[in-house]
Amino acid sequence: MRVRELLADYHIHSNYSPDSESEILDIINAAREKKIKHIIITDHYELADEHANTIDIDTYRKEMERYSLPVGVELGWDGVKELNVDTKKFDYVLLSHHYVEEPINQESYRNYLLRLYDIMKRFDGYHALAHLDFPRRYQNQNEPFSKELFDIITDILKLLISQGKSLEINTASIELYGEPNPSFEILRLYKSLGGRNITIGSDAHSLNQIGRGVERGIEILKELGYNYILVLDTEWREAKI
Ligand SMILES: [Zn+2]
Ligand SMILES: [Zn+2]
Repeated sequence: MRVRELLADYHIHSNYSPDSESEILDIINAAREKKIKHIIITDHYELADEHANTIDIDTYRKEMERYSLPVGVELGWDGVKELNVDTKKFDYVLLSHHYVEEPINQESYRNYLLRLYDIMKRFDGYHALAHLDFPRRYQNQNEPFSKELFDIITDILKLLISQGKSLEINTASIELYGEPNPSFEILRLYKSLGGRNITIGSDAHSLNQIGRGVERGIEILKELGYNYILVLDTEWREAKI
């Protein structure tokens, strides 16, 4: 059986994250086996969680450089804790917001989006916005964001575009409810607003999750009329999908 080549997986956690045990070399080998051309390891640096911001950045950089990998990070910010990380030390900064109020419903979705918008207005030291409708993953029925929330989503996407940042298509949720983060509807909106900078990632926390959903994620992008995603060689460039 021919294994199809996958263009990229730009959201992978290694054992530098508290919730993954994958060794970097094993990640590289797994990606090679799965024929993934471009990978970036993006470990957690969660500003408001002392268990998830223990990376010694210089050691981490050296480690990635040893394997000729770009230096990635998933920077989680609650918008409250002091932002005391020099993000210029990373080649790829995925901006994340992970805080969601319980019970998870449209109201907590709204609050999530409002906080995210506020965070983006105050901080632009990142490359891509991770999993925009993230709370949907944790809602009982994986309920989509309602139409009433699309005004604020529009504001977020417009700001993202004006800052020249990328939108991450996180494919972890495809196996959960058939759509990536963000959803088809949000991807359609992004396109209609002129958005074209897209990166893709599986959010793998174990070796077997590397590349999960990426093939389907790329199919979805093509169905929505996208022709490129961004990959990083020495510079960022558009790669045909
Ligand atoms: Zn995340
Ligand atoms: Zn992640």
